[in-house]
Amino acid sequence: MLDIVKTISLRYRTILIVDYFIQGAEQGRSFMDEKLWDSKIESMPLIELKELQLERLKKMIDYVYKNNRFYRDRLKEAKIESDNIKTLRDIEKIPFLTKQDLRGFYPFGLVCTEVDDIVEVHASSGTTGKPVVGPYTRNDVELWGEVMARSLWANGLRRNDILQNAYGYGLFTGAHGFEKGAQKIGAMVITISSGNTKRQVTVMKDFSATALVCTPSYSLYMAETAELMGFDPLKDFRLRLGCFGAEAWSEEMRKNVEKRWGITAHEHYGLTEIIGPGIVSECKYKKLHINADHFLPEVINPDTGETLEAGKEGELVFTTLTKEAFPVLRFRTRDLAVYYEEECECGRTLPIQSRIKGRSDDMMKVKGVIVFPSQIEATLMQIKNIGDNYQIVKTKKGDMTTLSVEVETTVKRWKQGNIDALEKEVEEEIFSILNLHVPVKVVEHNSIPRSIGKAIRVVER
Ligand SMILES: [Zn+2]
Repeated sequence: MLDIVKTISLRYRTILIVDYFIQGAEQGRSFMDEKLWDSKIESMPLIELKELQLERLKKMIDYVYKNNRFYRDRLKEAKIESDNIKTLRDIEKIPFLTKQDLRGFYPFGLVCTEVDDIVEVHASSGTTGKPVVGPYTRNDVELWGEVMARSLWANGLRRNDILQNAYGYGLFTGAHGFEKGAQKIGAMVITISSGNTKRQVTVMKDFSATALVCTPSYSLYMAETAELMGFDPLKDFRLRLGCFGAEAWSEEMRKNVEKRWGITAHEHYGLTEIIGPGIVSECKYKKLHINADHFLPEVINPDTGETLEAGKEGELVFTTLTKEAFPVLRFRTRDLAVYYEEECECGRTLPIQSRIKGRSDDMMKVKGVIVFPSQIEATLMQIKNIGDNYQIVKTKKGDMTTLSVEVETTVKRWKQGNIDALEKEVEEEIFSILNLHVPVKVVEHNSIPRSIGKAIRVVER
């Protein structure tokens, strides 16, 4: 009991313990409930999980072979049938699937069912080309709700929670995935969508929201707006939990979000190509468990395509094991992370992945130094008087890339003047982490544009 109480922000300790006794007694399950959502799968011995994955993989190979011409031709060419797959490592014989492949089959070319069997469609934003389309059958929708419920339950969402869903409703998977999972748990979903930030704050207060779902950067913008409206984010709201994703964010940014709202913030990782959110999320120990009974993970060397052993950093590759409308075999995510097989204190045996270091596409090489935007963010967040909003400006001249950083300071610090000294401090801090001199311009509070969805952190000029 004590241990559980520790995870709750102190302010609501009394209220929530009362909630637990009243609602817990009524429902059997409550906020304090520590049982796993699906203990049979989530605490299955790893060896059994691998047997299940192998069995499902073989079935999936037969399924796509039978139902989709692209896959059939590919597997034939690689001389693969389910009978050739004797162990999970045999998956390495299957060619990778890339974003480029998917674009070539826009919109429904890779569907493995009748189009009439599709009941829901989503799509990526398509900012870098044609969008990726995610079609779902009725069973896929059911699966999505189940893996989302499992993930949100692991975060600590319970039936008595009121969840403010501030992802944009639309083609994007985010809002819909969170809604399905939360409703399956039985929580109340406020379907507010993103934007109209003052209204968000008012609704959050009036409806007594206890959980918030959006991009981490938007949660900070909301806190800022709440303050401008005269509220104290720590005292005037009932928020205790944040479920964030769709954006690369550093551990320092997480601490910042937690401090601003007085909440526990959890990470979600998902991709339209796989199912949307619901692939990977955190337990209360902030370990990212992979729903590996449905999504088979691999980590590869992005340059050679060779499979790496557990514990080594590389590009994440996923194979869906149970999806019907749009299954993928060995989809290259371009996201860099580490895969672990280790026991977690929470009791889950589901394998773990590290937080995403960044997309391999985001990696910048500056004067021979490899730089990820997340490293710069982590550095900025640790400096006093530096605000939450920043932009990395990338300038390309021929083959040469140079970087500079623009970052906001607080209203109080700006008024004090002597901004040069603060700029020098930030430059020195970045140099100590990256061993690279990056010029820094400190700007006034509120001069960098805010985002209601994914924040634009890197701009090219
Ligand atoms: Zn865990």
